[in-house]
Amino acid sequence: MVLEALGYGCRDSGLVFSLCAHLLACVVPVWRHGSEAQKQRYLPGLCDGSMIGAHAITEPGSGSDTFAMRTRAEPDGDGWRINGSKTFISNGPIADVAVVFAVTDPDKGFHGGLTAFLVERGMPGFSSGQKFEKLGLRTSPVGELVFEELRVPAEAVLGRVGGGAAVFATAMDWERCLLVASHIGTMERLLETSIAYARTRQQFGQAIGKFQAVAHKIADMKVQLEASRLLTYRAAWRLDHLRNASLDAAMAKLATSESLLRASLDAVQIHGGYGYMVEYEVERALRDAVGSTLYSGTSEMQRNIIARWLGL
Ligand SMILES: Cc1cc2nc3c(=O)[nH]c(=O)nc-3n(C[C@H](O)[C@H](O)[C@H](O)COP(=O)(O)OP(=O)(O)OC[C@H]3O[C@@H](n4cnc5c(N)ncnc54)[C@H](O)[C@@H]3O)c2cc1C
Repeated sequence: MVLEALGYGCRDSGLVFSLCAHLLACVVPVWRHGSEAQKQRYLPGLCDGSMIGAHAITEPGSGSDTFAMRTRAEPDGDGWRINGSKTFISNGPIADVAVVFAVTDPDKGFHGGLTAFLVERGMPGFSSGQKFEKLGLRTSPVGELVFEELRVPAEAVLGRVGGGAAVFATAMDWERCLLVASHIGTMERLLETSIAYARTRQQFGQAIGKFQAVAHKIADMKVQLEASRLLTYRAAWRLDHLRNASLDAAMAKLATSESLLRASLDAVQIHGGYGYMVEYEVERALRDAVGSTLYSGTSEMQRNIIARWLGL
């Protein structure tokens, strides 16, 4: 409910996105998988905002196919030595701590061969690489993380050695359910803005909302908003009450992100030429919406997950 309200009230979707990356993909994994010592060390700062968190799995050569990653962690004395790099990491350029995934046993595959580590800025061998400019969400910093002979203690392992898949699944379930809650709020705002414009903008002697072509677009926005809201609420309920919410999280993510993109495009169309101009802010909503079908797993990958749950 809070994220929905934030998506509605905050026009800076980049800020909301950065908050979600911090909260859902860093704070939640530490809360759900961290040792008591890790919780004591990180959660107070992450919760009061004095520390910024990130979640790093994507690499230049491995996006959807996460286990094709090249980052390796090898035992080194009583700790680990990490080498590799990550890309497209939200909050990466400013993060104080990152949940970083590395292969610890290539033979075991994704389940058993992947481990999550908590890596802190300032550790020798850990640096931020290139920072990227992007189409939308421009206030959310995104960049590379580089690990060169980075030595971390055994206590940096989040969860258990080989348990990275479980940590990743927790982050994705929470992110897919709750990041899209903010999109519901944004869609509500776009709907209200579009209705207000359609009622006041006059062409051919009447409000454009009286043209069926415009009114039907707005009717579809309403239906997609309410359908996305129900899917998201159900996914959030399941996350709260059941052990596995992955199918519902994928359905909520797919439906809501695609609805957000369609609603943003419709809002621009309803505003005509004014919608294309920066002043009206709907063009910003459209640019911000494009990423939603890419991050946290693309729409194609959500469909793959849903199909797998259906036995295909
Ligand atoms: C704004 C933004 C923020 C991000 N933040 C983070 C972050 O904080 N941390 C992080 O780790 N990553 C982050 N990412 C990375 C994001 O998770 C990846 O971009 C995404 O998973 C896709 O990977 P890719 O870009 O390598 O595309 P690819 O995997 O190369 O995909 C390219 C195309 O091929 C399709 N495709 C690939 N495999 C299949 C398949 N099996 N079936 C059907 N189609 C397929 C994809 O759907 C896509 O259309 C972010 C990305 C963006 C855009």
